[in-house]
Amino acid sequence: MDVTSFFRLSYGIYAVCTADKGKTNGYIANTVFQVSADPPLLAVSCSKDNLSTQMIRNSGKFSVSVLTEQSSPELIGMFGFKSGKQEEKFKSFPFFTGKLGIPILTKDAAAWFECEVVNQLELETHILIIGKVHDCEILDESATPMTYAWYREFRRGLSPKNAPTYVDPSLKKDEPAAKISTKRYQCIACNFIYDPAIGDPDGGIPPGTAFEDIPDNWMCPVCGASKDMFEEIV
Ligand code: FE
Repeated sequence: MDVTSFFRLSYGIYAVCTADKGKTNGYIANTVFQVSADPPLLAVSCSKDNLSTQMIRNSGKFSVSVLTEQSSPELIGMFGFKSGKQEEKFKSFPFFTGKLGIPILTKDAAAWFECEVVNQLELETHILIIGKVHDCEILDESATPMTYAWYREFRRGLSPKNAPTYVDPSLKKDEPAAKISTKRYQCIACNFIYDPAIGDPDGGIPPGTAFEDIPDNWMCPVCGASKDMFEEIV
């Protein structure tokens, strides 16, 4: 089985947000789709490990913001790769509170939907949550929604481990095995660690390449942040 076949499936990139017991939270999802038009239903596949998933199940409400191709690596890094258990994710990003009382992220969003949970399907690692759309709006007519394919090609973004579309790198072909000892650097947007022993083969950086020797136009393979957003791990 060639697991990279899964990369040929098409998705968008969304911020799915909620609030429960006075706390706000949200995460980046690519598995959001419209189930039906009448009633207007959206589905999202959520990891059982996500704090947001538990909060959505408790509150019965969630919002979906459609992210654009201009979405900042900082936003994707915060919502996609950091946990609401440690971070107050909305502190640096504009949002408003919708009619259902949950946060709706407006930063880098082409449109938003506000949903009430009407059904859930428990699966092994994930829960398929179905929401009825109570309200929605276009924020930016001219913005192009980001597709997952675009994110992978132009930002060279990956899925975090609990994403439905995560692919274990060890299952991919041509896994690097070289070992050298040099300084490691961490992306401040998403916490990805560049290890010279591994390099970034998919990004054209072979194992054994010191961080300092990576071209300046290289981007974080997880969130697409630029090289200057990396800090040395001491
Ligand atoms: Fe990153």
